Amino acid sequence: MTTGFTTGRALRPTTKVLPEHARGHNRALVLQTLYRSGQQSRADIARETGLTRVTVSDLVAELIADGLVIEVGQREDARPGKPATLLDLDRSAFHIIGIDLSEYDTFRGAVLDLDGRILHRAELPLASATGEDATALVIALVETLVGHATLPILGVGVGSPGVVDLAGVVLTAPNLGWANEDLQGTLNLRFGLPVVVANDANAAALAEHSFGGADSDMMLIKVGHGVGAALLLDGTPLYGSRFAAGEIGHVVVGTDGGAECVCGKRGCLETWLSTPRLRSALAAADAETNIQILREAGQRLGIALAPIVGALNLAEVVLSGPIALLDGPLAEATIETLRNRTMAEFHGDLTLRMTTLGEDIVMRGAAAMVLSAQLGVS
Ligand SMILES: [Zn+2]
Repeated sequence: MTTGFTTGRALRPTTKVLPEHARGHNRALVLQTLYRSGQQSRADIARETGLTRVTVSDLVAELIADGLVIEVGQREDARPGKPATLLDLDRSAFHIIGIDLSEYDTFRGAVLDLDGRILHRAELPLASATGEDATALVIALVETLVGHATLPILGVGVGSPGVVDLAGVVLTAPNLGWANEDLQGTLNLRFGLPVVVANDANAAALAEHSFGGADSDMMLIKVGHGVGAALLLDGTPLYGSRFAAGEIGHVVVGTDGGAECVCGKRGCLETWLSTPRLRSALAAADAETNIQILREAGQRLGIALAPIVGALNLAEVVLSGPIALLDGPLAEATIETLRNRTMAEFHGDLTLRMTTLGEDIVMRGAAAMVLSAQLGVS
């Protein structure tokens, strides 16, 4: 998938604009307009943003001086008079590095351009590394990608499994053996670049909402090394009281026990649904039993999701992970279970689908986080 970022929607702003932030806000508005709409004149930007032409000219001068905006020529215009000068975000000003730590056997990353196109890929086998060894692998992967960037790097975005706070500290990621791992701080110190670390499912949901056309009330389920989820309500990401919103992987599903989980409990959703658990269960069984295993996993997911769909009146559930495992008997059993367990008149039109962004979803979401943090565009 190398489609650009530019055809999508911006996330709804969640904070009020204070007067002292107005200039930065207006600057981001101008950048956002150019990022989404492409070449525009100063007058176009003023119309689009509601800012005065004087303010726009002033901000544009500053953005040109900062190397973020360029003049790209004159508009072909039949009308008499001086033709308008067109401006654009300088799309060749920076590269972005996007990193995906969600897969169980590989850390993946890419150099992306500002439009979200993947220019160079790299990956490192995880080889069961945990703790400091896993951190060293992330550093090695970023180092490789930094070496492949041919423009200044706007920032590094990382989608990590586990619970990640808003300062990019991985509070817990059992599968990688991380607890209070300051990944954002470590990478920032090591590379001297802006770094954004967020939960992998939250990064994926951002990519899906901005570029995949997802509904504004949706839940994204990320199946990989573990099972994570992210929630968007009214277009706004939900983080929860301790940043663990969407962490359904270690919720026990049912009262009938189940396999032992890495967290110490039995029958967590992850024990039914994570990629390594599913792969090993399928490898040990015949074809007919395989369908049963996939259906059982789908039913367990449906059981876990039904109260969430019911409580939040979600419109859409998006699945992200290995298509061969998820798309088929598993997804069918999930939607059947959801329909059986929720109210048809309010949840009957709920849709469940695979992401359209493929396996690059977390890397693209990670790059989108950098764009949002550094330029205020999304
Ligand atoms: Zn667990």
